[in-house]
Amino acid sequence: MLTEIPYLDLSVKDPKLKADLLAAVERVLTHGRLVLGPEVDDLERSIASFCKRKNAVGVSSGSDALFLALRSLEIGPEDEVITTPMSWIATANAITLCGANPVFVDIAEDLNINPDLISAAITPRTKAILPVHYTGKVCDMSKIMDIAKAHNLFVIEDAAQAFASKYKGAMAGSFGDLACFSMNAMKVFNAFGDAGAIVCDDDDLNKKLHILRYAGTVDKEDCHIPSSNSRIDTIQAAMLLVSLNGLEDKIAKRRRIAFRYSENLKDFVTCPSDDENSYHTYYTYTIICKSRDELKSFLHSKGIECKIRHPILMPHHRAYKSSHTASFPVAEKLVKEILCLPNHENMTTDEVDIISGYIKGFYDAR
Ligand SMILES: *Cc1c(COP(=O)(O)O)cnc(C)c1O
Repeated sequence: MLTEIPYLDLSVKDPKLKADLLAAVERVLTHGRLVLGPEVDDLERSIASFCKRKNAVGVSSGSDALFLALRSLEIGPEDEVITTPMSWIATANAITLCGANPVFVDIAEDLNINPDLISAAITPRTKAILPVHYTGKVCDMSKIMDIAKAHNLFVIEDAAQAFASKYKGAMAGSFGDLACFSMNAMKVFNAFGDAGAIVCDDDDLNKKLHILRYAGTVDKEDCHIPSSNSRIDTIQAAMLLVSLNGLEDKIAKRRRIAFRYSENLKDFVTCPSDDENSYHTYYTYTIICKSRDELKSFLHSKGIECKIRHPILMPHHRAYKSSHTASFPVAEKLVKEILCLPNHENMTTDEVDIISGYIKGFYDAR
């Protein structure tokens, strides 16, 4: 019999969690303050405190968080922003939509930007470094912050995949001038639709971000800076407060699944892992493996759904490739070897062992 194991399962299985979410929605429907209601303030306070930052601004998505963060620093035409080639395209799009140019710097074996290559990419036009904590593993932030200080650059963390991850004991999102989170339904700290947040310590930036998220208006009427409508929904904020309560437990489950995979698979593929500096929350459990496409087809034939997150490097998307012709040897090699295995918290140990068994069988037969 075929075991069908989906890559992700977004249904809410836990009856207590479901009841808490419905109660949160019910409270919002009862008070009726659907637009920037009290739960938005509560969520902003909770996120700031969780990330050990002074301020948080709730916005409509991680993509808008990045866009507004860059705009709040007045990054625009003629400016360059250094980032990684390996991310979801939202990262590069945010830079481009501000009118600035993304400058891609190759990655290291951990799939994050290689900090040792950043200095060589800095020009008089460089305004910021935008590292992405890919897969949920925080970048080498000590090195990146040192480079930024030496060259007087802003740092904006794309922490969309890394809420609650840590580096040297400090939270993802606690390093840069600004840090951006996505809480879309697929992320580990999830809303039930789209949502995002920006955290910072600077009060003026915080104020500006609150203006930018609502058409650039002050006191909700007078527009000071033309901007988008990027508000977070009160209903999403209310549900996110419930998600935040259960987050530590959920991450513990995901880490247990990851450790089980790694124990099973370490002799066959390169497994993602913590190192002495990092606490990984495994937004994706991304292995690096030989014969990746054959392995993926084989697993699919057995009912196991895997994903390549993401199969196209940002500079190679159609919208970018004509203006970005540099080569990224490590990213170009690894993008053909990455494979994300199912790792949602509703998975059982048996399922992890079944998947691992197929992978071992696949390599044993070669
Ligand atoms: C999810 C994600 C985003 C965008 O977030 P949305 O909320 O989906 O707009 C940006 N960067 C990275 C690395 C992401 O994974």
